[in-house]
Amino acid sequence: MGPSRDTCIFCDIINKKAPAEIIFENEDVISVLDVHPIHYGHALVIPKHHSRDFLDLPEQLFPPMMHAARIVARALVEEYQLEGYNIFSNNGEVAGQTVFHFHLHITPRHADDNIRFVLNLKRYAGNDLGEAGLRLRQRVHHLLHR
Ligand code: AMP
Ligand code: ZN
Repeated sequence: MGPSRDTCIFCDIINKKAPAEIIFENEDVISVLDVHPIHYGHALVIPKHHSRDFLDLPEQLFPPMMHAARIVARALVEEYQLEGYNIFSNNGEVAGQTVFHFHLHITPRHADDNIRFVLNLKRYAGNDLGEAGLRLRQRVHHLLHR
């Protein structure tokens, strides 16, 4: 399950019980520098509401999250003259989530920064791509109409 808000480092940061380098804050969202950056300026965008992951976050908090993410991304691009950046979120332990309070990572990218996300790309066999598409379209349809 991971910790609840009582033992959550991001809740502590939000409540000013733990130190952090805050770069953006409004009533819904806080953004801080990651203490173990993939590259300098690596920022986290964190909703103030304690939600375990993407699916747990109330949908009305996504617009303020995206608003904050855009301001922070723009600040990073301008400050570090970035040619690019990654925005991602780890959800679940198997996906690399270590802090179980939903957050977005924004990581600066530079030419020749030597940062690699090691991937082992698969190939769909036969009609598996079409099958997967069909099943997921049906599942989405059920989610939208239940
Ligand atoms: P994740 O592994 O996606 O859950 O990301 C958690 C991130 O939070 C990691 O990149 C950590 O380096 C970062 N982190 C953990 N504790 C702190 C903290 N006190 N202040 C800033 N960043 C933190
Ligand atoms: Zn929390």
